[in-house]
Amino acid sequence: MADVLKHHHARKRFGQNFLVDDFWIGKIAEAIHPVVGEKIVEIGPGQAALTKLLIEKTHHIDCVEIDRDLVSWLRKQFPPEELTIFEADALKFDWSEYCAGSKLRIVGNLPYNISSPLLFTLSTISQNVLDQHFMLQKEVVDRMVASPGGRDYGRLSVSLQRKYRMEKLFDVPPEAFNPAPKVTSSVVRMVPVEHPEPIDDFVFNRVVAASFSMRRKTLKNNLGRWISNEILIGVGIDPSARAETITLEQYVQLTKVVAEKGIEIPLPGEKRN
Ligand code: SAM
Repeated sequence: MADVLKHHHARKRFGQNFLVDDFWIGKIAEAIHPVVGEKIVEIGPGQAALTKLLIEKTHHIDCVEIDRDLVSWLRKQFPPEELTIFEADALKFDWSEYCAGSKLRIVGNLPYNISSPLLFTLSTISQNVLDQHFMLQKEVVDRMVASPGGRDYGRLSVSLQRKYRMEKLFDVPPEAFNPAPKVTSSVVRMVPVEHPEPIDDFVFNRVVAASFSMRRKTLKNNLGRWISNEILIGVGIDPSARAETITLEQYVQLTKVVAEKGIEIPLPGEKRN
């Protein structure tokens, strides 16, 4: 199985840091606890560190890999009965077609350069997902699970917490990878909330993005062009508070009013007509 390792130079543009430490690979597989018959998809199998263990436990998984050299190597290592490979960019992959009618388990040691957009993309299919286990930069996981009031609480926390219950499982040191990344990594478990409050995601994303557009400013400052103080007070938000002190529930209530009133908020940096 080691052939490719000699010839494959880790590609920075694909965020390639391969897991090489059996202890940590085993610990991640254990946290996932794959079972025969489950529909499991791995994003970025790379040199199959985790893939191999997942297949041992379940006999078959799917995967999405962008690097065509790794794809051709993976095809030589695993027959199609064990590994179905989608050679694709996970950001452009048609997840809604792929997940139709099923409950997926999604796993991956994600390329850190695309982790936030990928998490947002996957959140659109959360109702077809059983759970997600990802290894990400520790700093990103800390932001995902952060509570209101702290420095880590931001757009990523609010947006993902609306869709998932999330739990940081453990940290993984740089030495577990080759090449070793500069930062510590963490494994996070994400379980979709069964019935997230039915609000307009488009409006919600804009409300949250605008609220956090300048973290050090008050909500009155960040939102005042579109949302009056009366509206903020009406949903229990102090206009002189900062975005990082507002709970998910308050953002949801604010979204409902903004949507009802048809208020249009551009994304930060977006040109208005
Ligand atoms: N799972 C392997 C491991 O743990 O050793 C590799 C992890 S490495 C951090 C990230 C993997 O994701 C690489 O195999 C890389 O080629 C792949 N990748 C990077 N960008 C991708 C994308 N946009 N879509 C799909 N796979 C991608």
